[in-house]
Amino acid sequence: MSISPVTLRILSIGTARDNFLKKLLSLHSSMQYELFPSERFTFFSLSSGSCGNCYYLGNSRYGILIDAGLGPRVIRKRLAQHGVELSSIMAILITHDHYDHIKSAGYLGEKMYIPVYATRAVHRGIEACPMINNRLNGSAKYIEKGAPFQIEDLRITAFNVPHDSNDNAGYLIEFGGQKLAIATDVGMITEEVAHYMLQANHLVIESNYDEEMLQNGRYPIYLKKRISSGTGHLSNRQAAEFLANNFHDGLRNIWLCHLSGDNNNPQLAYSTMKEHLSRRGIEVGLQLSLRVFERNVLSDKTEF
Ligand SMILES: [Zn+2]
Ligand SMILES: [Zn+2]
Repeated sequence: MSISPVTLRILSIGTARDNFLKKLLSLHSSMQYELFPSERFTFFSLSSGSCGNCYYLGNSRYGILIDAGLGPRVIRKRLAQHGVELSSIMAILITHDHYDHIKSAGYLGEKMYIPVYATRAVHRGIEACPMINNRLNGSAKYIEKGAPFQIEDLRITAFNVPHDSNDNAGYLIEFGGQKLAIATDVGMITEEVAHYMLQANHLVIESNYDEEMLQNGRYPIYLKKRISSGTGHLSNRQAAEFLANNFHDGLRNIWLCHLSGDNNNPQLAYSTMKEHLSRRGIEVGLQLSLRVFERNVLSDKTEF
């Protein structure tokens, strides 16, 4: 990461500089070391869906965001509602370059000095996005799929997720013996997606649309085709069948994310998953917990 003299001058006072230096020192992209099983982690959604996506994972000392698809003020406010300060955010992981995932990436990176991690192709997409005011310069961090990197006690591996963006990454995040996986805007579950998702104790999986609602709904044919294609989104049934067929005892939390506002509703997404699991003898509430991340709503927090 290069720092221009102008940037250095801006950073010359106060906590902004301290935070920035702390974040720089904590980035060990190529280093691998023992993960400490020390603290409990908290996970919640600040918003999920085409209205904006942003998720938080952190402990009492630091946290990361996955996607930054809300305005900075909303992010700050919703974090604060769960007692988290924006200054404790050490990194933002971007899944892909659609605007509902990157709205604040430029601002948080360049104005708040939070490193923004994404693949080269996603960074190119962010750069090309006309709605992003602050071009990512010093805060852009480039990652490669399949190559683990570390932020504090989090070991993170990006994996390929098919979608009609420049590129799309799911993330497997390991911490203190636990694994959380997140894949959103999933055209289809490939072997690679399954490989990473099925390691997770805590899984965020897209459940975008109900197939009947989409087919009978008001969307034009081309859009229906786009959504249900292998580079579009995952339906309630696809997500539910995948987990019912591949359930393992290590899976403790499932969150359904990125629900469509027109072709889905939280009750339907929840009951579709619950029924598929129950047909395989897997009881929600006993063996695992199932929750739905609602659109543009701060979720409850889960600790593990
Ligand atoms: Zn999206
Ligand atoms: Zn998308």
